[in-house]
Order: sequence, then C-alpha cells, then structure tokens
Amino acid sequence: MDTNIRQITDLRAFRGTPRAGAPEDVGAGHRHVARIVEAATANAAGLSFESPIRCRRRPKRVPCTGHIIVRRQDLPPEIQWACGECGDTGLVHNWRGTPWDFAAHGDHAAQLAVYVRPADYKVLELFGPLDIASRALVLGARRVSQLVVIEGTPERLEWLSAALEALIPRARSADRDALLRIGESLALRLGRYRDRGL
Ligand SMILES: [Zn+2]
Repeated sequence: MDTNIRQITDLRAFRGTPRAGAPEDVGAGHRHVARIVEAATANAAGLSFESPIRCRRRPKRVPCTGHIIVRRQDLPPEIQWACGECGDTGLVHNWRGTPWDFAAHGDHAAQLAVYVRPADYKVLELFGPLDIASRALVLGARRVSQLVVIEGTPERLEWLSAALEALIPRARSADRDALLRIGESLALRLGRYRDRGL
C-alpha cells in the first residue's frame, strides 16, 4: 500500500442500494467521495483526468483552489484520486454497485465535446430534475484548460439537450441563464455535427 495515500474510503455499506435510495445524509466527507465515484465511473477505466470537483482541504485555514484528479481501475476495482494543488490523495474501495456507480449507465464511446464555463457547469451539476442518463453525462465532465468539457455520443448529448429544453422553464430564475448558455452550446455542437458530420 502506498503510504502517501491520506484517505481510504470503503463504501461497502452502500452496496446494493438503488440510486434512488442514495442516502442524502452521508455527511460532507462521504458526499465528496461519492461525487468522486460518480466522476470516475462516468468515464472510462484507466483514464486519469482532472474533474470539476473542488478540493475540500483548507491548509492553514485557506481553502485549497485545486481540483480533484480521478482515475478508476477495474482490476482490482479501485478509484484513486488526488488534488492537483495540495497533493491530498485518496483511494476508494467497494464502490461497485453503490448508488454513485455510473459504470452501468455509461457509454464510453465518447465522440463530441461541449465546453462550458465552470460557473455554468456548477449550476448544471446541482440541477436536480435531470434524469439519470443526463446526470451520468454531466457528472462525468472533465476540466480542460480552465473550462469544463462534457463529452458523449451525439445521441447522449441530444438527450441532454432535449432534457434541458424541457426543464429550463421550471428552473430557478437565478439558474436559467447558465442553463440556457449550456443549452446553446449543446445545440451549436450538435448542429455542427448534423450539418457537417464533425
Ligand atoms: Zn487541495
């Protein structure tokens, strides 16, 4: 075992819980790890990427500005994470079959990328009414050059686009502009794919 790993989390207690039954009150520490599992399982195994998840540490009482780098391996099943800034690291075991395991919902043949502003992404990430297929797409986003990239097959992006179109009228007015901007980016990306096949 790597002695530099600071935090080891075992999610055994949550295995077999349906996603709809995901406990709301797992506590901030577990919620953070759960979000890491969502990001890791919504992406392909073996891929190391920077997620939009903010580091929770406060070295010397100043919040760390880093984002969490995530990597999942399937044999043996293990999720490794690290903060790109402060070096906080962790390992997650027994995440398979927990409410945060998206591996069964994912389609890892990613094709189209849609770039969104981190502040807009934050709104989408917390937007409750999305269906599970859209959530899997959204929570699998990665950070690339100060932006957040949502990547998926045209079919999955179409699905998210349609879901947003239907749900935006019901969104809080404070969230609507961000969601509309994301909807526009999706529509533009899908339009370019439909018109020119790229
Ligand atoms: Zn950090």
